[in-house]
Amino acid sequence: MIGRRPLLLGFGAALATPRMLGASALPQGSAQGAAQGAVDLVLNGAWRQGGYALGRTEPRALILVDGEALSTASTDGLFIVGFDRDAPALAEIEARSGARSTRRVLDVAPYAFPSTRVDGLPPATVEPSDPALLDRIRQEVAVKTEAFASRAEADDFRDGFIWPLETYRISSEWGAQRILNGTPARPHYGVDLAAPAGTVIRAPADGRIVFTRPNMHFEGGLTLIDHGQGLISAYLHQSQLDVTPNQPVRRGDPLGRVGMTGRATGPHLCWRLKWRDRNLDPSLLVGARAPRRPA
Ligand SMILES: [Zn+2]
Repeated sequence: MIGRRPLLLGFGAALATPRMLGASALPQGSAQGAAQGAVDLVLNGAWRQGGYALGRTEPRALILVDGEALSTASTDGLFIVGFDRDAPALAEIEARSGARSTRRVLDVAPYAFPSTRVDGLPPATVEPSDPALLDRIRQEVAVKTEAFASRAEADDFRDGFIWPLETYRISSEWGAQRILNGTPARPHYGVDLAAPAGTVIRAPADGRIVFTRPNMHFEGGLTLIDHGQGLISAYLHQSQLDVTPNQPVRRGDPLGRVGMTGRATGPHLCWRLKWRDRNLDPSLLVGARAPRRPA
């Protein structure tokens, strides 16, 4: 965690106040969007690059992000929106229910991602050239893409995440620019948790398993969990897989064990998270909690 900046893990009003637009900006409007023409819209979260907003609105309200309809709130009115690594400084979130709607513009804080070198990787895992291997990689990309397209009807992100390992050391921060064997590569879209091989990996939240495969070229033993609304977490380099596709899991359930399969130089869990096509830092969801309805 050394060198890590303080996280903008604000909750409700503790964080920057969202600018209010549209119907909810009327003088009579309240933060709960009580004005006629508005809908409830309460937001918290880690509003930064690689972060997210958790929201509460009306059940089944349509959620638009920067004008694009991307999601639907759950039957409890909960939703999540992710901000990718290169997200612009502002994000507009709109909740719409019939003819009524409320819009907010959030400040998405920039983050200075570090640059890290990884040397000594087998060349075939950095710049593969063998045609049979390229074929295999293409096939693996296709099955992963299909799994990441899963959209469970759930809001299993509502109580945030717990860490998937009980003890670990963060060996590589999320979002780092990578120099692999001396060549600049894609940013690292995982947070690496170093732990002894065989350490039990646990589900950080409820969800449904959408993919497991033991020997992916890059990822090694890989498991994907669908937490709902396009939020899918991933567990790489496993030495053992203990769940199967379509299996529901509860927070804390064992998924498998830490290993160093695939592109890895030592035993660790590479923990990843996507919201739709955006890559997020899963550690930012640890301890989060979606806004609840006032009692
Ligand atoms: Zn990693």
